[in-house]
Amino acid sequence: MASSHTVLMRLVASAYSIAQKAGTIVRRVIAEGDLGIVEKTCATDLQTKADRLVQMSICSSLARKFPKLTIIGEEDLPPEDVDQELIEDGQWEEILKQPCPSQYSAIKEEDLVVWVDPLDGTKEYTEGLLDNVTVLIGIAYEGKAIAGVINQPYYNYQAGPDAVLGRTIWGVLGLGAFGFQLKEVPAGKHIITTTRSHNSQLVTDCIAAMNPDDVLRVGGAGNKIIQLIEGKASAYVFASPGCKKWDTCAPEVILHAVGGKLTDIHGNALQYNKEVKHMNSAGVLATLRNYDYYASRVPESVKNVLVP
Ligand code: AMP
Ligand code: MG
Ligand code: MG
Repeated sequence: MASSHTVLMRLVASAYSIAQKAGTIVRRVIAEGDLGIVEKTCATDLQTKADRLVQMSICSSLARKFPKLTIIGEEDLPPEDVDQELIEDGQWEEILKQPCPSQYSAIKEEDLVVWVDPLDGTKEYTEGLLDNVTVLIGIAYEGKAIAGVINQPYYNYQAGPDAVLGRTIWGVLGLGAFGFQLKEVPAGKHIITTTRSHNSQLVTDCIAAMNPDDVLRVGGAGNKIIQLIEGKASAYVFASPGCKKWDTCAPEVILHAVGGKLTDIHGNALQYNKEVKHMNSAGVLATLRNYDYYASRVPESVKNVLVP
């Protein structure tokens, strides 16, 4: 029987369940104690068994249900048969009860590009900074990020042994973002969140020019966007290449769905069509409110180095 739901809403509902399953895999790998760490390009660019298993789980689960999607995952993995145990077939019914924004109701499966970061904040994961870690599934249409799901596997992990671990945040442009309480930093406070493991002189110079009251150095692009929407930071500033399209796609949607703004350091929107280069070469600038305060303070010397 044909579903009465749109392709987009079915995809988001499936991505929600798939991201939850991903969270259980991320926790299981830690519990089993063998992270299987591999260096990719350098000592701060790592891949673990969790990155590998979660990518297989997400990409195979999505491809099975939506065979015409374009799916781009961070990890370069050899083709192999995926263990049935990694496949998630569920869909989150609460999402299917929501109306699809009319501008997306006629989208076909083959028109969508899905950007998957199976584990964002891998360096921090290997160091036990577990709440920095997120699983990111971003959905793009006509080059624009329009829907996204973020699972935070260790949300609540400092709340004691009885705490329920993990949460899933999701959003669609024109509908909203759900799974968290929107909060703003107190008016007039400039708190910048940025990288802790991929710092550079350019990043430091750019932040200094913004004259912040405080600078938070934490792992993960997903984690930093969560800080923006939960009132812990007012701007995410990363004046450096290094961050990729799978890092920004899902977080950008959640931020945009609640009125925030994410661009490169020049103020250009990021593009997510399947042909685009993966690297966000001109960095990232994101805020929930007050974008112009930060954008107007990016030094020309920084802009001149970061070519889009
Ligand atoms: P961070 O804020 O350092 O956690 O970076 C956010 C995302 O961008 C993570 O997925 C990082 O792995 C990625 N990233 C940022 N800079 C680099 C870099 N120099 N090399 C590799 N990955 C990077
Ligand atoms: Mg990442
Ligand atoms: Mg990753």
